[in-house]
Amino acid sequence: MKVIKKDHHIYSFRPDLTSVESIESGEIIEFETYDSYRDQLKSEIVDQYFKLEGVNPATGPVFVKGAERGDTIKITIISLKLEKEGTMYLRPGAGVLKGYVDRPEVKKMKIENKRIIYNDDFSFPIRPMIGVIGVGTEEEISTFSPGQHGGNMDTKEITEGAILYLPVLTTGANLAIGDFHAIMGDGEVPICGVEIGGRVTVKVEVIKEKISSWPILEDSKNYYLMASAKTLDEATQLATESMFLLLKDKCSKFSVNDVIRLMGIVGDLRISQVVNPLKTAKFVVPKDVFKVNLGEVQ
Ligand code: CA
Ligand code: CA
Repeated sequence: MKVIKKDHHIYSFRPDLTSVESIESGEIIEFETYDSYRDQLKSEIVDQYFKLEGVNPATGPVFVKGAERGDTIKITIISLKLEKEGTMYLRPGAGVLKGYVDRPEVKKMKIENKRIIYNDDFSFPIRPMIGVIGVGTEEEISTFSPGQHGGNMDTKEITEGAILYLPVLTTGANLAIGDFHAIMGDGEVPICGVEIGGRVTVKVEVIKEKISSWPILEDSKNYYLMASAKTLDEATQLATESMFLLLKDKCSKFSVNDVIRLMGIVGDLRISQVVNPLKTAKFVVPKDVFKVNLGEVQ
């Protein structure tokens, strides 16, 4: 199995990325990642003058042979392994509660037996997830931003066992992955979860068909469509409409009005994150109601 080391990383998705490895459709590959602070926060001591350099790296990119613009890549997340310690860095002026953060503070949290040791009295189970996973774009987009290419979607359901479908925007897709969280809540209100490095093993396959303009995630129970925009209002409209278009095209057993009714009954419109340059909403539908054929792997 090919392994992409974390010293091969990017800070933006763009058309002219130079791939560090190339794989066949169907190949299994491992990515090693830094935490989003590029492992610069080694201790809990920071002062107001401390500056992070080169943050939110995504490991890669990896060229997928046969992937052309207009195709889809199917990324099956086989395993997601974390380092032994996570970090949260609060700064005045950052996040939804920015006016209340009175000083910069780094908190380190050990992970033991799949639990985060928050302090001496309190621990809770980890819920590992991938914050950044995306492909090369037609115009440069920082790894801080989400979009149609994926990127910094900060969607907590992007985790072991799930399958992500991304639209291919440039030849070879150029997949890059980073920004794991040991756990994060919907919203990511302080602009961080428990930030952590790790290793992810994925199977990457090419589907010679466009499924959606936006990333779609599938797990054992649900389909999720993640859409991002300047405002949450726009993101929720895009996520709802794009999920509707997918279900209308791929679920022929339901009429248009059935799809709309069922989206209102069993569908959930939820928030992924509200702190990145674009906000991300997700529309979630259960697979036991909607059976969607997301296209055949070549
Ligand atoms: Ca993130
Ligand atoms: Ca993060």
